[in-house]
Amino acid sequence: MARIVMKFGGTSVANLDRIRHVSRLVEAEVEAGHEVAVVVSAMSGETNRLVALVDALDQETDLGAPIEDEYDSIVSSGEQVTSGLLAIALRRRGLKARSWLGWQIPLRTDNAHSKARIAEIENSAIGPSMSDGNVAVVAGFQGIAEDGRISTLGRGGSDTSAVALAVALKADRCDIYTDVDGIYTTDPRIAKDARRLGRIAFEEMLELASLGAKVLQTRSVELAMNNNLPIRVLTSMAEVGDDNPGTLVCNEDETMEERVVSGVAYSRDEAQITLLQLKDTPGMVAKVCKAMSEAGVIVDMIVQGISRSDNAANLTFTVGIRDLDKALKALEVEKDNIGFENIKSDDNVTKVSVVGIGMRSHTGVAQTMFEALADKGINVEVIATSEIKISVLIDSEYTELAVRVLHQAFELEKTSA
Ligand code: ADP
Ligand code: ASP
Ligand code: MG
Repeated sequence: MARIVMKFGGTSVANLDRIRHVSRLVEAEVEAGHEVAVVVSAMSGETNRLVALVDALDQETDLGAPIEDEYDSIVSSGEQVTSGLLAIALRRRGLKARSWLGWQIPLRTDNAHSKARIAEIENSAIGPSMSDGNVAVVAGFQGIAEDGRISTLGRGGSDTSAVALAVALKADRCDIYTDVDGIYTTDPRIAKDARRLGRIAFEEMLELASLGAKVLQTRSVELAMNNNLPIRVLTSMAEVGDDNPGTLVCNEDETMEERVVSGVAYSRDEAQITLLQLKDTPGMVAKVCKAMSEAGVIVDMIVQGISRSDNAANLTFTVGIRDLDKALKALEVEKDNIGFENIKSDDNVTKVSVVGIGMRSHTGVAQTMFEALADKGINVEVIATSEIKISVLIDSEYTELAVRVLHQAFELEKTSA
């Protein structure tokens, strides 16, 4: 007997038929003798619908008062519905099952409403309930904050709920069921020749997720890596008994380093800001970063233009697209203090990245990448690198082209599964 956490995303519980299908997949694990906790997302589209309701009202009445606590109580409701529905579907198959909301577990988080981090899941009644033969159907994405209110874990957060629960329950397996049959060399919706990877190292998956591959929430990979808990990503569209190996996200092994590049990711959630004619003095970048951090804006890629003879420079950096207005307002306020003449901004940019732990031991990746982009006339605006990734900022218009071209340049269609 094993203890298993199964997680089903929005498409996997999109309607009652899909929920019935999920109940069959769960039943198969129970019949195999396992103790099962199931984490569910809201039905696909539901969280977007709820967020849009909040945004519409918020924009009408924006007086600056924070509303994130109420946002959480609204957007978490989608998961309440699916957890109850799946519990009913399981009971209708003759299984013992009950739903659990975040506060009932309790899954405790910090007070960072709308992007809370999990603090602990301790002494939960879930474990004993599972040992009594009940399937635990858990509403993903939500927890209870220190202030006693409902919190949510950021978009895609049900993945993190599942991993955190698997760690807390000392589960033998954490299976993330989704609408693709594993982790691919790039988003299969963009490159038709993308290949499923049999295994991928935690570190690579962490980079891919944080660089835009939405298939797993970044925090879930971080949590799995820190607790050395392999995650299997597989499709929920398969029938019981089908061969469904998926992709194992796990510690790296030697074979993984043979692949120079494992995947290509892209993120359209970027915006670019350029400060023109900055006084090129020590501490100028620090002032910009201070203004951004005080406004609660995370700065990502930064590049400083070459100083000109008049001792002025240009500074370009990127921020999350949702933070652009906030960033521009904060910079205007600090204009004299920072000492620049003009601001330009562009939210029509995409960050495209290649990732692979093989980059540590292979050279030439940057050359291949820049040549491939140049061949197609794609202009690179900002570059950022780490030991296992290279990212470029390009005009959004070229997103699909850049992803496909890089996928080909690194021959990712030939990667064996
Ligand atoms: P869920 O609703 O199950 O959480 P998501 O929509 O969050 O599913 O994530 C699955 C989607 O992630 C896929 O449909 C796919 O388009 C996208 N995706 C992006 N990059 C990758 C990748 N490298 N491998 C697999 N899927 C990817
Ligand atoms: N329903 C939430 C979202 O759409 C959480 C999740 O699906 O993981 O972001
Ligand atoms: Mg998801």
